Amino acid sequence: MKSPLIGITANALLEGLKESGRRGDVENAVPQAYVDAVEDAGGTPVLIPLVRNPSTAHRILESLDGLLLSGGGDIDPALYGEEPDPNLKVVDVEKDKLEKELIARALAKNYPLLGICRGMQILNVVAGGTLIQDIPSTARSSIQHLQRATAPVPIHRITLKKGSHLQKIAGQASLRVNSYHHQAVKKIAPGFEITATAPDGIVEGIESRRHRFVLGVQFHPEMMFREFPVFKKIFQKLVQEAAAKHAH
Ligand code: MN
Repeated sequence: MKSPLIGITANALLEGLKESGRRGDVENAVPQAYVDAVEDAGGTPVLIPLVRNPSTAHRILESLDGLLLSGGGDIDPALYGEEPDPNLKVVDVEKDKLEKELIARALAKNYPLLGICRGMQILNVVAGGTLIQDIPSTARSSIQHLQRATAPVPIHRITLKKGSHLQKIAGQASLRVNSYHHQAVKKIAPGFEITATAPDGIVEGIESRRHRFVLGVQFHPEMMFREFPVFKKIFQKLVQEAAAKHAH
């Protein structure tokens, strides 16, 4: 069987835009760790650039077997009907718009999908959920979700829902994960369920009930897959589902 094509959404590096004010001066970027994690799991990583037209986004998706929504900046709260919190960071409405197109189409076509960090959050928003805009100022939490420890170090525990994709992948009831977020899922999208939570109740994993494999994780498995086999298994599952896509 051919190695499945896994599209990874790019982030816009906005430095060029800040200098010139021209959208054409942003750079499309994906951290190497995502590329490595997909390749290591047997998939063929393909970068999805920030195309402007929905039809182009749909055409790209058509050529893929699976979708990986990468981490990145904050999501425009207007997408879930809220005004910006004072602690909201930079938003990129162009990227939000593209990912909305990709996700809506991927869900409609039952694509295997993995959302990581921001990727999980935008997945929840596009599917009809909402976000906590800033954990430290708006949620009562005694846990550090924006860790100061370096990347491959798991910083807090999460509890996994029995029978969920994540629990079956992990083969255990809880995990220690890294944490690089100040936003989180607030209201879960219809048709989705919370499948992982931190001890303070912050949502760390969501899954669709209506799709074969649609998983979002709040932590960054791509930063830890070399050190901990459990995180490698998440990418292997995505690749496996993508490879099986045409058989269904
Ligand atoms: Mn966390």
